[in-house]
Order: sequence, then structure tokens, then C-alpha cells
Amino acid sequence: MKRDWTTQEILDIYHLPFFDLIYQAAKIHRENHDPNKIQVSSLISVKTGGCPEDCGYCPQAARYHTEVKIHDMLPVNQVKAQALRAKQNGISRVCLGAAWRNVKDGPDFDHVLDMVREVTKLDMEVCCTLGMLTENQAKRLEEAGLYAYNHNIDSSEEYYKEVISTRAFEDRLETIGNVRKTSITLCSGGIIGMGESVEDRCGMLKVLANMTPQPESVPINALVAVEGTPMEDQEPVNIFEFVRMVATARIVLPQTQVRLSAGRTGFSKEGQALCFFAGANSIFAGDKLLTTPNPDVNEDKKLFDLLGLVPQQPFEKHPKREVVSSENSKYKALGENPKWTRPGHKIERNEAAKLRGKTQI
Ligand code: SF4
Repeated sequence: MKRDWTTQEILDIYHLPFFDLIYQAAKIHRENHDPNKIQVSSLISVKTGGCPEDCGYCPQAARYHTEVKIHDMLPVNQVKAQALRAKQNGISRVCLGAAWRNVKDGPDFDHVLDMVREVTKLDMEVCCTLGMLTENQAKRLEEAGLYAYNHNIDSSEEYYKEVISTRAFEDRLETIGNVRKTSITLCSGGIIGMGESVEDRCGMLKVLANMTPQPESVPINALVAVEGTPMEDQEPVNIFEFVRMVATARIVLPQTQVRLSAGRTGFSKEGQALCFFAGANSIFAGDKLLTTPNPDVNEDKKLFDLLGLVPQQPFEKHPKREVVSSENSKYKALGENPKWTRPGHKIERNEAAKLRGKTQI
């Protein structure tokens, strides 16, 4: 598999005539996947809001004044009950998200490890998105049975600096490297519609496509511009640009599951069908994605029936891992306090969003 993509090569694919692009993507899709199967995930926000980071797209950042309702860690039983309901709706994977900068050893992380164990025991794939993490923390998640870790690179390395100032692109890559020291699969993608150029979109795909191995899952999000965030005025992404992004991702990441993530409510059924044809084979189901709206499960079922699509079963692509109890764990908390980067450069629109909040008070 090619691992030396340049941004220009990916741009050349992105700019192919539309039908040539989706034809080529659909062909590669069929060679590597069952085109009528879609992996369906559900997202549970286990700790919402109050995040110390300054990601310009995110309503959970404490510094912006959004309407997100903050809640602390959910009880394990509640998460398990939600996961069970998702399973009854044909959902194979549950993604547990916590609005943290990074994982800290202690009761909250132990609590997440218990959630991972309990939901894995339901015969569901569990993914976590918890921010930056160390190798030891990744190993503890692996032992708990974790199937996937999500850590998005968001955009190109160059544009990342226009979105976030509280951590650096290299921190993302370091966490991804720590996940890769385990057998946990990697989920990493990004967001389009943040004001980035097409070069940035293709630059992001270059980083993902040149990873060895490539991520098993790549979510492509269309920005949901939330009031109060620095990106509140961004125009929605045009469906044809989005399909181009999906098709290009499919071509450079042939074996990856390419996921339609945030922003799907803005797309028509026909638009989504075009994405599936162009190589998307994973979605988030459920009426909320952490804090932004998403199509209802029943709407998705109707769309699947219309298109003759079926949900992928759990562990079809990678085997289930044995769940090790906390008492039998080989890896104990090390109480690490790694110095993740904090570049702290000024991003004008992020600063303006903080000030807008202050003047409203
Ligand atoms: S995207 Fe994640 S890290 Fe960034 S502000 Fe939101 S919750 Fe925090």
C-alpha cells in the first residue's frame, strides 16, 4: 500500500472530474469492503463541558459562552443501560467521550476503565475519546478490553495552529503513537468547514494516509457552527465538497472505515447516499453527537432500508479482546504528569469569542 503520499498527489485526486472521482472511489471501496454494510456507532458523552482547551469549533470549551449543559462523570450503570439500548437498535460500537485535555490517573480514569469493561461485556466494540494519553494509560485501556481510541488530528499541521493554541499537532501524533504501542485500533480524522483551504484538507489526508498502519477508522466531520464558539459564523460545507472529501479519503485509505460524523443533519438523504457510494461505510447514530444534533436512529433505519444497507456486526473487522479485571491488571496507575505542549499563540477569532462572552455578562 502506498505510504508516501504528497499533498499535491492527493489534491490531484480531489480535483478529478466529479464522476471520475466517485467512480474510482466506489471501485476501490468494492475491492476492499462489502459496499452494502455500514458500521454504526453511538456516542455517549460521559463527562460534558468545562474543558480547559480552546478548540475553536467546540462548544465544550469552558472559555466560550455556549449553551452546553455541563455534567460530571456519568454512573457506570447509566452508560451500560444506554449502550444496551444502542445495541437493541443494531448499533455495534459505543464511543465514550470525556471533555478532558488529557487522561489523568485517578478515580475518574478508573471509572472510565470500568465503563469500558462493562460495555465490552455486552459484546459491543468500545471506543474512547479522552484527550491525550500516555503509553501506560493506553495499556490500561487495552487490558480493560478497549477496541478503539479516537484522537482526531482535526486538520493539516499548518491549519491546526489556526484552530487550537492550547496544544500542538505533535501532541496528537504522540498520543496516536502511544495507542499504536497497544493492539487498540485507531480512529483519527478531522473536520472540514472551519475556514481551511482544500490544500489543508488534503494535507490532513496526507498525514493519515502516510501512517503505518493507516487508521482503522477515519471520521470526516462537517463543522456544526455552534453559537458562542469562535466558528459560529462559518458557512456550512457544500455536499459536493463533502462527497469529494469522502471519495478522496476512500482512495488514499482503501481499507479504513470512513465515517460520516458531525454535520450529517445538514445533508439530504440523496447526499448521504452519494457519500456511501463514494466510500463512506460508517456513521454515528442517535439524535445527539456529544453536544450537536444528529439524525434520529429511525430515520437512519429508513434510509438503510431504502438503500438495501445492513449494519456491520461487532468485531467483524477485528477480534474481541479479553477483559482483564482491575484486580488482575498488570499495569497500575503511575501517577504520571507528562508535560504536553502548550504553545499559547494568539488565535484572533478564539480571542474574540472569549471577549464576546465577557461583554454579554
Ligand atoms: S474538542 Fe475536546 S479537547 Fe477540544 S475543547 Fe472540545 S472537549 Fe476539549
